Amino acid sequence: MKVPFLNFEASYLELQEELDSAYQRVMKAGWYILGREVEAFEAEFAAYCQTKYCIGVGNGLDALHLILRAMEIVTGDEIIVPANTYIATWLAVSYAGGTPVPVEPDERTYNINPQLIEAAITERTKAILVVHLYGQPADMDAINVIAKRYNLKVIEDAAQAHGARFKNRRVGSLGDAAGFSFYPTKNLGAIGDGGAVTTNDVDLADKVRLLRNYGSRIKYENEIQGYNSRLDELQAAFLRVKLTKLDEWNSRRAHIAEQYLQGLVRTANVALPFVPNWAESVWHLFVVRYPKRHSLEQDLHQSGIGTLIHYPIPPHLSGAYIGSGWHEGSFAIAEQLAKEVLSLPLHPHITEEQISIIVNYFNKGF
Ligand SMILES: *Cc1c(COP(=O)(O)O)cnc(C)c1O
Repeated sequence: MKVPFLNFEASYLELQEELDSAYQRVMKAGWYILGREVEAFEAEFAAYCQTKYCIGVGNGLDALHLILRAMEIVTGDEIIVPANTYIATWLAVSYAGGTPVPVEPDERTYNINPQLIEAAITERTKAILVVHLYGQPADMDAINVIAKRYNLKVIEDAAQAHGARFKNRRVGSLGDAAGFSFYPTKNLGAIGDGGAVTTNDVDLADKVRLLRNYGSRIKYENEIQGYNSRLDELQAAFLRVKLTKLDEWNSRRAHIAEQYLQGLVRTANVALPFVPNWAESVWHLFVVRYPKRHSLEQDLHQSGIGTLIHYPIPPHLSGAYIGSGWHEGSFAIAEQLAKEVLSLPLHPHITEEQISIIVNYFNKGF
């Protein structure tokens, strides 16, 4: 039996009736951009994230970019980012004209190490952009203390962590603003691209709302130079359906993660994810570390088990940041992770049988 990394068809089939009727509702309304569905989703997702405001945008990268624009980040401003993240986190900073200043991850959680942040702060630092990587909240208390001390903004990249909690508070509500992605593979995924900003700051919310729609509040009155980055009505309608399932699907993910954690605990040389007791992960990914990753990966694929690598090249060594002065060795921990991490299949529709196949694979020795 094959174990694919993801299963989109199964997630559609579980919600087919509701998704099909959401589709028909939008088609019949004949209104496709910034209408009732987006408005309703924004209210529902803000409530879910325990924030006052939510603004639907085109994708997760734009969500972060528009937050930075709304904060009036300008050329030369420095933004602290994790060295270990998906490149979108850094690109948002670069698009806004800022300079990403990477900080190494904690070796156990893989999230930004708060103890290393202070050394990276300069006169030009404006914000800390944290990522809740693989579904696990970053150490927000420690980060917020530093931000307060240096008068910095805190932005959450919550693209992988819809519904995760830090000390019982939802991600999206733990800093000045947060960016979410609804890319189909995310815990809350659209049937295409989508994103959102959450915040409790009324002025920031207002600015992001302007920026996503040509800088316009009233048609043909353009207060500022904005962008076109709107969440579609159709995607919003789909997301409203999927939001009703998010907690259930996240708890299925947690159940699967628990089975992996218990089943793989004695596998030699395989480092398992570590979740501190103050964090409630939503297990976007189940990432193990193994020194000879390449052979493990090949062998798993030959056994019909799908895996992916998140991520094989750290942003500072990618072509996008060539010429920024970084080199092999600049961020040794992030580089080591890039060489050793491997993501196992974990999604709400994986079966008990498929999980056993993977657990047995590791227990038989390889
Ligand atoms: C997916 C992702 C993004 C970007 O989201 P898009 O919707 O693809 O633009 C940003 N940051 C992280 C950590 C992500 O995983």
